[in-house]
Amino acid sequence: MKIAILGTVHSKGLEFLKENELEIVEVTNFNNQNLQEELKFVDAILLRTSRLDQDILEHCKNLKIISRHGVGYDNVDLDFLNKNKIALCITSTSNAVSVAEHVMSFFLYLTKNLSLSDKLVKGGNFTQRSELPNFFELYKKKLLIAGFGRIGKEVAKRCLGFDMEVYVYDPFLDSDLIKKSGCIPIEKNDGLALADFVSIHLPLNEDTKNFISQKELDRMKEKTILVNTSRGGIVNENDLHQALSSKKILGAGMDVFVSEPPEPNHPFFKLDNILLTPHNAALTLECRERMSLEASQNIFYYLKNMTKLNMENLVNKKFL
Ligand code: NAD
Repeated sequence: MKIAILGTVHSKGLEFLKENELEIVEVTNFNNQNLQEELKFVDAILLRTSRLDQDILEHCKNLKIISRHGVGYDNVDLDFLNKNKIALCITSTSNAVSVAEHVMSFFLYLTKNLSLSDKLVKGGNFTQRSELPNFFELYKKKLLIAGFGRIGKEVAKRCLGFDMEVYVYDPFLDSDLIKKSGCIPIEKNDGLALADFVSIHLPLNEDTKNFISQKELDRMKEKTILVNTSRGGIVNENDLHQALSSKKILGAGMDVFVSEPPEPNHPFFKLDNILLTPHNAALTLECRERMSLEASQNIFYYLKNMTKLNMENLVNKKFL
């Protein structure tokens, strides 16, 4: 059976596929015409972040499963997969810790003024150490987490460890479950108004697009720091730019962008109160290894040994 690997992945998964005698086709040219040709006869696709819409998928004559290297699947035409009974899997156990640690790095970097501190020492200005602006603690601060799934829960655990007060907005969850995790359930607008930190952990879909736009930014406090490690477009970039340049909120950390990579003249690049990372919250060495292996196992187990498949990973089970 033929497995297409779309994008570069850690060798661990590829070794697993080879050991199990699956043929690997490594695809590096994501031009539509090339994809239509290369994917025509594959049985499975291991997919990183390139888009797979109907215009490509309808050329895949043998496709049985797409296995996402990660958990978001807004880059795949799920309706097409459902109609054609093609499975979609994610790597649900692999990346929550890595993303949660990334969120903590944003919080700490932005509140400890690390970049400016480093410049002071290296520039011979050690004695200005008491003059750093916006240098403060996480202790007792209020955090709003939007989306209390795998990643939101890991962020909460770490922030409770820092003695923060953690509020959760997730209308799809029973509030008892949120309380049992030591957090406080709250409505979106109330949470935005009280939070010192806001961290977004939602899937991108029609409901969550522009989840944070001008009206939400208007509700936040002047000292609020907003972090988005979920997907570009959940935070409206123009409105955030406006809020940061007019100092309506204190700062932001963004790992994801509407268009990736962002245009070279993206307005965020001129701001000094935003920290940007290149959609690499889940790309720690350990996480890349886990995602590559789990995505490959999803393919092998789905095709050859369904009893070993983690059913949590199978997104569209009810359509198959
Ligand atoms: P998850 O499915 O476990 O959790 C999502 C949570 O959001 C669920 O609890 C759901 O009830 C809640 N939710 C859905 N719609 C909502 C809405 N409109 N309002 C409030 N809550 C809502 O997902 P996860 O594993 O925690 O991942 C979250 C997202 O993070 C993914 O969809 C993905 O796009 C993104 N992600 C980014 C990276 C990265 O590298 N930056 C890595 C992994 C995941």
